[in-house]
Amino acid sequence: MIRIISIRGLIFGLLLLAPACLSAAERRPFSVLVLDQSDLRGPFYYQLSAGLRGVLGGNADARVTVYGENLDLTRFGGATYTESLKLHLQEKYRDRPIGVIVAIGAGTLEHTLRWRQELWPGTPIVFAMLDETDFAKLGRPPDVTGVVMRIPFAGAMKAARAVVPGLDTVALVGDDWDRQVLFSHWDEEIPAAAAGLKVIDLVGQKMADVRKRVAELPEHSAIIYSAMFSDGEGTFYPPSTALGMIAEKANRPIVVGAEPLLPAGGIGGYVLLPSEIGSDAARLAMRILAGERTEDVAPVTREAKPLFNWHQMQRWGVSESSLPEGSQVHLREPTFLERYRWQSLAVFAALFIQAGLIAFLLHERHLRHDAEAESPNRMSELAHVNRQATAGELSSSIAHELNQPLGSILANAETAELILKSADPDLDEVREILADIKRDDQRAGEVIRRLRGYLTRAPFETKDIDLNQILGETFEFLSVQASTRNVALYLQTVPGDIRIKGDPVQLQQVILNLVVNSMDAMAAIPYGRTVIGRVELNGGSTAEISISDSGPGIPPDKLAQVFDPFFTTKDQGMGIGLSIARTIILAHKGRIWAENQSGGGAAFHFVLPLAA
Ligand code: ADP
Repeated sequence: MIRIISIRGLIFGLLLLAPACLSAAERRPFSVLVLDQSDLRGPFYYQLSAGLRGVLGGNADARVTVYGENLDLTRFGGATYTESLKLHLQEKYRDRPIGVIVAIGAGTLEHTLRWRQELWPGTPIVFAMLDETDFAKLGRPPDVTGVVMRIPFAGAMKAARAVVPGLDTVALVGDDWDRQVLFSHWDEEIPAAAAGLKVIDLVGQKMADVRKRVAELPEHSAIIYSAMFSDGEGTFYPPSTALGMIAEKANRPIVVGAEPLLPAGGIGGYVLLPSEIGSDAARLAMRILAGERTEDVAPVTREAKPLFNWHQMQRWGVSESSLPEGSQVHLREPTFLERYRWQSLAVFAALFIQAGLIAFLLHERHLRHDAEAESPNRMSELAHVNRQATAGELSSSIAHELNQPLGSILANAETAELILKSADPDLDEVREILADIKRDDQRAGEVIRRLRGYLTRAPFETKDIDLNQILGETFEFLSVQASTRNVALYLQTVPGDIRIKGDPVQLQQVILNLVVNSMDAMAAIPYGRTVIGRVELNGGSTAEISISDSGPGIPPDKLAQVFDPFFTTKDQGMGIGLSIARTIILAHKGRIWAENQSGGGAAFHFVLPLAA
């Protein structure tokens, strides 16, 4: 594109300079007559013409009139025909001044040179599609320039060797050499270029015979196709159509010399690109129209390029690495990603987002896991604080539990002293007293042990425990406090053990919190202060513990809040007792809730799963 723009710029520049080079009378008409050698229906001439018109019609500042004539020399010939052609052109263009004639093909150039003096005297000729060997023979006539092709047969051989390893045979397919537009010089080059190989010459044969022969070629052979313009029996077609018919039957790869033959079934080779030839010729014509002397517009040479057909390479198992250096592969099947680019991008984006989401969720899970692992520790610490506070409240119970054995130890010790002071001490009685002292000491020791256990900051751990025993011990521990506060404390357990898996200290703490709360709630009522603890077994899978009291109950709008951390209605309250109780019960895979009893007072219930 950049190249085209710069050339357009160049042409425009030259057009502006033109008056300085040529006088108004000398200035050429802005018109080009394109004389074409062959049938325009085929892709080769179509592409060449497109390349030509792309440049000629590309300059908006200098419109060029383009006329086109198809001489059809591959299908028609002879002196009468060419004479009629000349008369036709003479008549047709009598009043149409022509600036430059573009002659495509060696035959066209030959005729144009012959007619020029008579039909278009002094009009420059730009040729295209003239092989270098033909150009060398012709020399450069005056007022002629053009595009010279270089497409030697050696290139076709190089390509054949690349696509067939161990090549020992080549089959030549095409119309007679003298009817060829591009490849007539191959005829002379074949003996040298194919030396040492077996040559199966099918040139000039009928299509039907060619199709038979190409189906049974030996293993290490390749077909070299020039161009066929007819079936040899009166039907004409473009060379690409003929190639398609041959490729249908061929049992070996077909090397070709023109790019439009690739899609028709050629595997490729050193090929000419017709659109490049067309645009080259048009550029030369434009320079002349712009005022340059034809002698100063040197002919350009176009080399055949190594170009191969991906589909055919797959068919014949040819790898890219075996192609000549600098080869290009065309008609490549797009990969799945290339074909479904947007769909693939969408799928990849979805996968990417999904992967991101999964990573995020895994990270969240990891954080939650950490938090969950951490939460029992936090709960243990908070529970410890709460137990210390409860222990403070229960100091009278503790003192009472210790005073009782200490008091009886003292009384027993004094009695023993008196017995020993007597003249005939009863040693058996002293022994009994000492046994009592020992028992009381153990009782006091047990109180201390339990208190230390209760106040120890221990991590949450579950044991196989009996819920009846936990309830019994806790209620017994609370009994002194209850009588001090004038509260009647009852416990209704079920017979036998209630086995659960749990942390005994923490479950004790739940019961303590609930009972102490009940006693607090009843502080203002003058009499009838009662707390009842009850256990029930629900169908053998869970145990339900209830602590109910005869206090004022919980205001209905606060029922949902009492378990919230720091919710308290007490002056000295911390508001963490019930929140800790709920955390402990949840950690035991249980459930806790509060309600008001129909007959008055609050009831707290919690359910724990029984051990299997
Ligand atoms: P605190 O005892 O420090 O206030 P809790 O979490 O143990 O903290 O109790 C929160 C609140 O729940 C208490 O302040 C009280 O208002 C209410 N509450 C708890 N138990 C009872 C009960 N048995 N009767 C009435 N209200 C209660």
